Amino acid sequence: MAKYISKNNNTKGISICPNCGSRKITTRSEEYKFTYGEGKGRVELSAQIPIRTCILCKFSFRDFVADDICHEALCKHLGVMPPRQIKGLRKMYNLTQAEFAKITKLGEATLSRWERGVLIQNEAYDNYMYLLGFEENLAKLRDQSAAIEAHIDDSVKVNAENKLTRDIPNGSPSFSMPLRT
Ligand SMILES: [Zn+2]
Repeated sequence: MAKYISKNNNTKGISICPNCGSRKITTRSEEYKFTYGEGKGRVELSAQIPIRTCILCKFSFRDFVADDICHEALCKHLGVMPPRQIKGLRKMYNLTQAEFAKITKLGEATLSRWERGVLIQNEAYDNYMYLLGFEENLAKLRDQSAAIEAHIDDSVKVNAENKLTRDIPNGSPSFSMPLRT
């Protein structure tokens, strides 16, 4: 699946005129059409977005709200969770991105990109996210994660013990490979 790069670069909630810096902005709603994909897979999508107009200099522009709405329309078209739903899923469990990433083994940076709408998860990952929405599934992963950690602790101890025995020279190889005949 192709990457969709959002033009989202404004993280603040207040629109400022990019032309004159004024905060005196009016908003009207407009249908915005945009395309996604290439060749035969190219589709035209549309979304109702806010168009800001500066009262002072009359400059019109679209901001991050419009980008978010377009991104959501694209996710809907692709049949995958939009960013706010992914974030909502994680928040439902009261987990930070780092904690959620640790349990699910998703990359923390990837998760962050999905939540910011910089990148759209593929269908397999979307299915995974869907399953993570069921508490029992996340609980299973939590248990597994805890078990693996406990196992790592054990193996560290075992390795420490093995090291003691391996340090004693006995001249024999620790394992042998079957030879081809
Ligand atoms: Zn202006």
